[in-house]
Amino acid sequence: MNHIENDDKYSGLTVNSGVTQPPVVNPYLQRRKRRPLPTVAEMVEGILKGDVTMLSRAVTLVESLSPDHQVLAQEVIEKCLPHSGRSRRIGITGVPGAGKSTSIDVFGLHVLKSGGKLAVLAIDPSSERTKGSILGDKTRMEKLAVHPSAFIRPSPSAGSLGGVARKTRETIVLCEAAGYNNIFVETVGVGQSETAVHSMVDFFLLIQLAGTGDELQGIKRGIMEMADGIVINKADGDNIGPAQLAQAQFRSALHLFPPTTSGWMPEVLTYSGYYELGIEEVWAMIDRYFEFVEGNGYFERKRSEQARYWMYETINEQLRAHFYNNPEVERMLGEKEVRVLDNRQSSFTAARDVLDYYFTSLRTNSSI
Ligand code: GDP
Repeated sequence: MNHIENDDKYSGLTVNSGVTQPPVVNPYLQRRKRRPLPTVAEMVEGILKGDVTMLSRAVTLVESLSPDHQVLAQEVIEKCLPHSGRSRRIGITGVPGAGKSTSIDVFGLHVLKSGGKLAVLAIDPSSERTKGSILGDKTRMEKLAVHPSAFIRPSPSAGSLGGVARKTRETIVLCEAAGYNNIFVETVGVGQSETAVHSMVDFFLLIQLAGTGDELQGIKRGIMEMADGIVINKADGDNIGPAQLAQAQFRSALHLFPPTTSGWMPEVLTYSGYYELGIEEVWAMIDRYFEFVEGNGYFERKRSEQARYWMYETINEQLRAHFYNNPEVERMLGEKEVRVLDNRQSSFTAARDVLDYYFTSLRTNSSI
């Protein structure tokens, strides 16, 4: 027997005769529209009023890869710039497990006790590969995440380290214009990203651990030299002794370094982020530093130097991106790489051929 459902006219929704057929689409369901982009003026006005939604949307624009968004983002930044700069920018670094998120949570709450606002940003080079950021994630800072005066933003994920760092640098401007007078920039203390962070902060805090054996060996000399303060975390319980030992070792190691350009002698302290011990002392050190560099003019000098650095960094990064994003350059590079690896062409002539093509194409095609 032929089954009713095999009939072309069959519709599962109408089999029950006598029952009114409900509308196919829920009338209460509103078509989700993409929120229209606010104008530059609206965004700037919102940011200056401290509107977090506007700030987040502007940061999203800064992070966007779309050229149209980039243009808008630059206009917003330009207008926010006169309202920026009035903050303490603090870089915080340490290897995974050093206790950065635990510490930032308590340092942040400590800072906010005296009022003001705090933005926690991050530069995470690994996010380039994983397309997700492990730093600056709200879930890692439980107390700050629900604090009304804290703004937490994970690392921008797309692009080169230079590109990611530039976006964080621009986000600092937006946050400051929105009234955030404390900025933390977090990074993992294992690579190049510290240099990038160092170039955008006033104070660079290195979180270290004791009891890992040869304390000073695993640390890259460069990172230690950048630090304005070294703090040894987890100085609690049985770990107090080893932490103090590490403190003494770091102190003597620091004496071997040349004096810093600021004239500030980096300090070494122990604390416990988890048990909230020694937090005030860490912050008192940071206060002393700001007093010192504001007094001797280094604060202003460093900020101007950083502004110059970021001009060149931005130029370098955008030139590089323009070159490598050219499809023909990309194709040629693939081909040249094989030739160089096979010893069929020297590195220099291969590079010259690609650059020749690029510069010629710039001259002949102004649209590139
Ligand atoms: P991050 O990877 O640097 O962000 O480190 P986390 O803040 O996630 O901390 C790593 C681990 O160390 C966690 O299990 C924390 O609970 C623990 N931890 C953090 N701070 C302290 C501390 O002051 N004392 C002790 N004993 N453990 C801590």
